[in-house]
Amino acid sequence: MSAPTTPAPADGTNGATTDEAALPMVDVRSVHKSFGSLEVLKGVDLQVRVGEVTVVLGPSGSGKSTLLRTINHLEKVDQGWISVDGSLIGYRRSGDKLYELREREILRQRTRIGFVFQNFNLFPHLTVLENIVEAPVSALRRPRKDVTAAARRLLDRVGLAEKADAYPKQLSGGQQQRVAIARALALEPRLLLFDEPTSALDPELVGEVLDVIKDLAHQGTTMIVVTHEIGFAREVADTVVFMDDGRIVEQGAPGDALDTPRHERTRAFLSKVL
Ligand code: ADP
Ligand code: MG
Repeated sequence: MSAPTTPAPADGTNGATTDEAALPMVDVRSVHKSFGSLEVLKGVDLQVRVGEVTVVLGPSGSGKSTLLRTINHLEKVDQGWISVDGSLIGYRRSGDKLYELREREILRQRTRIGFVFQNFNLFPHLTVLENIVEAPVSALRRPRKDVTAAARRLLDRVGLAEKADAYPKQLSGGQQQRVAIARALALEPRLLLFDEPTSALDPELVGEVLDVIKDLAHQGTTMIVVTHEIGFAREVADTVVFMDDGRIVEQGAPGDALDTPRHERTRAFLSKVL
């Protein structure tokens, strides 16, 4: 596979500016991605500043999950580039060329970016505590004792201290998703990505998961949240992004993007979900 063709910044400098505070935490530039002949991302640009919450809305198939997956290199981009916290994702720059990182380096990058999936993806054969402890011990080689103590604090934070020794199947969907969030936080990520974190939940369990995400937002966690929960977007988002057919067609503060959308496709989508 060829390296992306759009000019990329030298790794660690992120272009011309030297002002650290001005650097976006996430910088997505002209990203294109195809699966075979199907172009799924058609030139996506997105910047997320440190501590900001970006909510991504859009119809099914518009490329939302693919965009999130490119940000932690679960999918390679065909064109363009992405940097997170000043590092190019999946590549390093040497002179004018980009070289793909080795698997081990990609895995290390990925530990800095938490990902919470629609279907929780907990390990069924591990207890709640073991699920949280696994990655920091195996991927980051942190001492099990320290990680376990931190995991118990995280469980307390998501309101599940008493479930440490339970297995995932003994928990409700909402509880499982809160464990999945604690597991993502255990790696102390610089960025959290959520892909429809409440879509698999019974309606009465949605609130408890959104409350945990809101809490993280109020504590200044940088995150990108794909969701259909418009109320959540209105309350928590700094920026709302609307995707349609592989493009960002609308982007702005929630009041503008949700109440006075400029794009016809945004209006059509919102009229269905509101
Ligand atoms: P969304 O999350 O907005 O529903 P996706 O990013 O999952 O959209 O998918 C966008 C399009 O890409 C869809 O048409 C989907 O079928 C297609 N797609 C996603 N992943 C793959 C894949 N691994 N192989 C082939 N097509 C894919
Ligand atoms: Mg999706």
